[in-house]
Amino acid sequence: MSLRLGWLAEVLGDSPTLKLSSQAKELIKAGEPVINLTAGEPDFSTPEPVLVAARRALDDGRIGYTASAGIPELRSLVAEYYTRTTGQDYSAGEVIVSNGAKQVLYNTLSVLLNEGDKVAVPLPYWVTYPAQVAALRGETVEIKPTNGWKVTAEDLERDGAGQCRALILNSPSNPTGAVYNRAELEDIAEFCRRHELFILTDEIYEDLIYTDEGHISLVQVAPDLRHRIMRITGLSKSYAMTGWRVGFGLAPKDTIDAMTRLQSHSTSNICTIVQKAALAAFDCRAQVEEMRQAFQRRRDLLVSGLQDIPGVKADLPDGAFYLMLDCRELCGPRSREGGCWSLATHLLEKQKLATIPGKPFGAPGCLRLSFASSEDELREAITRLRQGLQEFAG
Ligand code: PMP
Repeated sequence: MSLRLGWLAEVLGDSPTLKLSSQAKELIKAGEPVINLTAGEPDFSTPEPVLVAARRALDDGRIGYTASAGIPELRSLVAEYYTRTTGQDYSAGEVIVSNGAKQVLYNTLSVLLNEGDKVAVPLPYWVTYPAQVAALRGETVEIKPTNGWKVTAEDLERDGAGQCRALILNSPSNPTGAVYNRAELEDIAEFCRRHELFILTDEIYEDLIYTDEGHISLVQVAPDLRHRIMRITGLSKSYAMTGWRVGFGLAPKDTIDAMTRLQSHSTSNICTIVQKAALAAFDCRAQVEEMRQAFQRRRDLLVSGLQDIPGVKADLPDGAFYLMLDCRELCGPRSREGGCWSLATHLLEKQKLATIPGKPFGAPGCLRLSFASSEDELREAITRLRQGLQEFAG
C-alpha cells in the first residue's frame, strides 16, 4: 500500500540540474577522466582567518542557541557593511542571518506571499525560484529578456509583471553571469515604482563582477523604494563558504521580524560556531578580491577559447562564474524539444565533459558552463567542447 503524501510532495520534482552532475560524479568515481563544468561553487578554500575563528569558537566550548535572527555582533557587522557600500543607513534590526541565501529567499517569500500571488521571474532563472514560489502556492510569471540575457521595463510590462506582487531580480545572474548596470536598474526601478511591486534582489554573487562600474544594487539607484526592496545575499560564493551556510537578508524591520518568527519555528539560529566564524569573513576582503581576479582570468580564457565555433555564441559574462553558451543555431529545430539535453549527454558520453543543459533554467538550446575550475581544466574543456560540438553538428 502506498502512502498518500501532501500536495507539496507532488509539486516539488527532483532538481533537473542534478541529473547530469550526478551522472558525471558516477563516471568520475568509476575512474573516467571527466572534466566537470557543472559546479555551482568556488573551487577555492575558505579564507584562513575564518577557519581560525571557527576553531577558536569550538575551543571556547560554549555552543548554545543564539537569538534566532543571529548574534547581535554579526547582524551589526552586516548592517555596517551594507551601510558603507550602499550609502543607505541599515540597523541590525533590518538584518537576518539564515542558512544560506536559499533560506533567506524562502523566509522572504513566505512572509510576503498570499496564496495565488504572482511573482515575476526573468528568464533564464535559477531553478529554485519557481520551486519556492510553487511551494508557497504562488504562481511564477516568466519574463522574456530582450536586452541580451537581461529584462527591460518593456519586457516586464509585456509579460504581465504589472499584475504581480513581487519581482525577483538576480544580478549577477546564475545561470548567465549577466549584470545589470545603473541605467538598466533605473529603468526597472521606475516600472516597480509605478506598479508598486516588492523587489527581491538576489545579490549572492555581488562581489564577483568584472565590469569597471562594479556592482550596483537596486537600493542605490532607487532609495525611495527601500521599503519594498528585500536584499538576499551571504558569504557562500564570494568567500568560498558554500558549505558553511551563511545567508543575510536585509529588509524593513517588520519584514525581518516576521522572517525571524518563521525562522524561530522552523530552523532557529544558524550554527553558533559558524556565526562566530562569519565575523572574521569581513576582514577577508583581500582574499575575496584575489578570488575575483582568478575568476576573471578564467572567464577570459574560456570566452576566448569559444570564439569562432560555428553555430554557437558565447557572450562575455560580466559577473558570477557561469557562461551561457547559446547553441540554438547548432541544435537547430532540436533546440525546442530538449536538444540541449541530447547535446549535454553527447558531451558527457563522448567527450567526458560535464555541462548543464539550459532548458531547466528556461534557456532551451543553451548550455551552462561553470568556470569555477582550474585554468588547465578549462583549456582541456575547450578542446573537448570544440570536438564534441563538431561531432554533434554532424
Ligand atoms: N541565489 C543564486 C542565484 C544561487 O545561484 C545560489 C546558489 N546556487 C543561491 C542563491 C543560494 O546560495 P546559498 O548557498 O547561500 O544558499
